Amino acid sequence: MTERAIDVLEEDKDGFFLVVEGSQIDWAGHDNDAAWAMTDVEAFEKAVEVAINFAEEDGKTLVVVAGDHDTGGMTTGSNGQMDLNAQVLQNVTATGDYMASLLNEERSNISEVVYNYSSIELTSEEEKIIKREQNASLAINKVISDRASIGWTSYNHTGADIPVYAYGPQSHKFVGFHDNTDLPKLIADTMKLKFTY
Ligand SMILES: [Zn+2]
Repeated sequence: MTERAIDVLEEDKDGFFLVVEGSQIDWAGHDNDAAWAMTDVEAFEKAVEVAINFAEEDGKTLVVVAGDHDTGGMTTGSNGQMDLNAQVLQNVTATGDYMASLLNEERSNISEVVYNYSSIELTSEEEKIIKREQNASLAINKVISDRASIGWTSYNHTGADIPVYAYGPQSHKFVGFHDNTDLPKLIADTMKLKFTY
């Protein structure tokens, strides 16, 4: 989609402004769904790669990669462990939400469902926890995160600082700390647009 959008927009000789959003990174953060978060970060990375390749060739294009906030407070090193166990996430092929939707009323098929979509063999303790928790989706995501040694602090947007990356002409304007609400002002400035706010 990013490739196609650039193809169409670059026809305009006055230049163009394009926003590409990897929005499900945020949804996954709200669900504390580590595998979903990483899958969508990977998809977003591919979009960034397309944009950077175009900018490299074009030489007149500024690429700014930013988020408006962190969601979930995702960290590595939880559950008393220091190392990330990323292999766990690579084997996950569905969201916790989807797995939860396949559970029967008693959740007696929990082991089978989780195994089918994550290759994780639940311990009886993990099975008990998922059966007992009101929200099965969040409980499944917690088990997977714990196995991967990933911690979370919130089901919502957090106040954590997030990185901003910039490539191309005037990218120096994005160095340092900025309020997220300043980014559109900086972008307007680099495009010499009059921006009313
Ligand atoms: Zn959100």
